[in-house]
Amino acid sequence: MTFQNFSTEQLQKMDAGHHLHPFTDHKELRDAGSRIVTHAKGPFIYDSEGNEILDAMAGLWCVNIGYGYDELADVAAEQMRELPYYNSFFKCTTPTPVLLAEKIASLAPDNMNQVFFGSSGSEANDTALRLVRHFWVLEGKPEKNIIISRDNAYHGSTVAATSLGGMSAMHEQLNGAVPNIKHVMCPYYYGLAEEGETEEEFGLRAAKAVEDAIVEAGPENVAAFIAEPIQGAGGVKIPPASYWPEIQRICEKYDVLLMLDEVITGYGRTGEWFAAQSMNIKADTITTAKGLTSGYMPLSALIVGDRVAKTLVEKGGEFYHGYTYSAHPVACAVGLRNLEIIEREGMIDRVRNETGDYLLSSIEAAIGDHPLVGEVRGKGFLIAIEIVKDKASKSRHEPSGAGATAVRDHAIANNIMMRAVGDTMIMSPPLIWTREHIDMAAERVKAALAGAL
Ligand code: PLP
Repeated sequence: MTFQNFSTEQLQKMDAGHHLHPFTDHKELRDAGSRIVTHAKGPFIYDSEGNEILDAMAGLWCVNIGYGYDELADVAAEQMRELPYYNSFFKCTTPTPVLLAEKIASLAPDNMNQVFFGSSGSEANDTALRLVRHFWVLEGKPEKNIIISRDNAYHGSTVAATSLGGMSAMHEQLNGAVPNIKHVMCPYYYGLAEEGETEEEFGLRAAKAVEDAIVEAGPENVAAFIAEPIQGAGGVKIPPASYWPEIQRICEKYDVLLMLDEVITGYGRTGEWFAAQSMNIKADTITTAKGLTSGYMPLSALIVGDRVAKTLVEKGGEFYHGYTYSAHPVACAVGLRNLEIIEREGMIDRVRNETGDYLLSSIEAAIGDHPLVGEVRGKGFLIAIEIVKDKASKSRHEPSGAGATAVRDHAIANNIMMRAVGDTMIMSPPLIWTREHIDMAAERVKAALAGAL
């Protein structure tokens, strides 16, 4: 039975009757009815009402190569026929995770050579948390187990990933977070800088918040600092250039491991394979997912640096951790081909050398002067638009987020899928966008803002 046998109304009724959605107010959803996305091609998604929508979010920041690459469907089908499942537990493995791990290691920064697979970014962050704490136990320093994270960070939705994250609404519902995780300010210049403070000064102040937290906890008790190189779901917050070098210095000074969450920024989004490369950060672990398969299959990869890996391998014995679907052969086959496509088609070079800057300058030119726009910022294929009530005072709409939500609704009505997080509008398009797609996006964003005023 295929969905074509059902009308939109029938699907919406069954959806409301039985399907609990992620991050959704179900009462609101049931009144409105879900938009049912039925198919997609290249940069466009299509819904059951026949709308063609330019997907400026690449799904959930993940469809890096765009939709409809038959090659990935073929590779998945071949692998399913050959070997749909076998695990990498108990001294076994299958070929595709081996090839993919080797490929990821070849693309990752030089000191990162080991890969642990899961099915989601949340799982990968759970693994990372367990691994870094285990590392310090193996090093004979079990008291070194506090993790410093940041306000508004998003590291996933499992209990451990929510605890690592800094979203207050999520913590309120957690009712018992994983202990020994502390949060400090995020380097959000537009929202948090003081009068007259330069970007450089602000970046150093935000880094100092990390140092202060380490000193307050006692460096002998701090295992690691975790952060997204550019905070994604928290509002595409791009740190000033002074921030990451100072964080690196602080982590080295106090022997605190540096955990990067590149679930969004990995696999090309910032114009390099990893933001660690575009922002020159030397990490001990890098969490990746999303763009690893461009969302065609669920797969995550925790990339582990040599220091942590050496201790795990040489002193570790068995690490009691793993998922049934760790190193899933079909997901890994798709991941491998996806990375080959990104490489073969030169997608990252194009973002770095051509379309990334064009995207930012086009959006700025289209809406930078609009009275509702406080700031447009971006790096590579990540864009944030700050929505304000008043440009000069940077005052926001009431209730919080109302301005951005209105713009988001007008964006969808203008056939461009964007996301509102708090008072910020986000774009994270597929890497395949051409100048024509960018021009189309700029026009539609402009129309959305005009509608929302
Ligand atoms: N880390 C970051 C930075 C993310 O943006 C996300 C998801 O959006 C996650 C982790 C969690 O990934 P997943 O939803 O695959 O569990």
